[in-house]
Amino acid sequence: MFNDQRSKKVLLVAHCILNQNAKIDRCAHFPGAVPDLLRPLLDAGIGILQMPCPELLGMGLDRQAEPGRGASVEAEDTRVAAWMQATGGQAVCRQLAAGLGYQVEQYRRNGFEVLGVLGVNGSPTCGVETNWEADEEKAQPGVFIRTLQAELAGRGMALPMRGVKVYQPVPARVALLELIAPA
Ligand code: SF4
Repeated sequence: MFNDQRSKKVLLVAHCILNQNAKIDRCAHFPGAVPDLLRPLLDAGIGILQMPCPELLGMGLDRQAEPGRGASVEAEDTRVAAWMQATGGQAVCRQLAAGLGYQVEQYRRNGFEVLGVLGVNGSPTCGVETNWEADEEKAQPGVFIRTLQAELAGRGMALPMRGVKVYQPVPARVALLELIAPA
């Protein structure tokens, strides 16, 4: 089964790495996808499983920002972090993580290689090595990544996970290569 052209290799990628339009206001660094992170995946023939954006699905594209309030990006991130960690945000994360857990399980059961998860460091939600909460960057995963880890563990699985900051292309590429071409 599945003996065709597919590589049978898949990487889970945070939504906004492929679509910067989903970012919180003032935080997009590219018009669309992040080219330096997309190209190695295309060249290697790795399937890109674009994870949903939990903040967009939970809070909307504008993250429920008050027009004209003039809050700093940091203050907005803190507000988003609080929402995502509260009951409603956690429910969104659990629902989305369950769908991803099912997909990962399906790929694995059918002999595919799921290479890992590429997240977004400094994000309250999709951070891997760091997140943002209470006005500072902290050395801990974001709420969605924590939920995804728990969902995978509940299914008896774990995946390598790395986070990137898309405006730091060199370390971002290193992190990606650690997932798709480990030494
Ligand atoms: S880091 Fe996660 S929550 Fe934030 S914009 Fe990207 S996909 Fe959405």
